[in-house]
Amino acid sequence: MHEDIEEILVTQEQIKAKVKELGHQITQDYQGKNLLLLGILKGAIPFIADLSRAIDMLHEIDYMAVSSYGNATQSSGVVRILKDLEGPIDQKHVLIVEDIVDSGLTLHYMLDLLRQRHPLSLRVCTLLYKERERAKPLELAYIGFRIPNLFVVGYGLDYAQRYRNLPYVGVLKPEVYQNNQK
Ligand code: 5GP
Repeated sequence: MHEDIEEILVTQEQIKAKVKELGHQITQDYQGKNLLLLGILKGAIPFIADLSRAIDMLHEIDYMAVSSYGNATQSSGVVRILKDLEGPIDQKHVLIVEDIVDSGLTLHYMLDLLRQRHPLSLRVCTLLYKERERAKPLELAYIGFRIPNLFVVGYGLDYAQRYRNLPYVGVLKPEVYQNNQK
């Protein structure tokens, strides 16, 4: 375990098993359909890379980059599109692949935006889902793990752009934040 990590919430083995299970489910659900996996950069990179290989049918991958967090650990509510899709999605079944759903603000924004492009279907697969109150309810087709309302890093998730490479999801030691503020 990395020295900055206080506790591991989801182990590498648990992630591996869950990705396999989700891949199997998605393969069954989208059989014969023109599936586009839409990864949200940068956090979803490890997840979409593993999930795509666990899906046993042909599909496309594209990415969007949005920003809703600076280096802070709270959602600003402001979502900016930094990178858009390469082409139209009106002939595709779009499955958004997210690293984590916290307030759900990012996802609401993405869903509203993508619905206006009339995909054949639009659903969400998130690796992590924080158990917390939300202003607007969210419909999520696939959820990997439900976790407590804590700020987590690893398996794509960062703190100040670091820790994305950790193979597990964990909580940082409080002193890591304190030292960063000095
Ligand atoms: P939301 O809009 O649902 O509040 O947040 C969505 C985005 O905020 C996620 O895609 C992720 O980039 C970031 N985020 C939310 N919670 C966490 C967290 O616990 N850790 C990290 N590293 N990023 C988070």
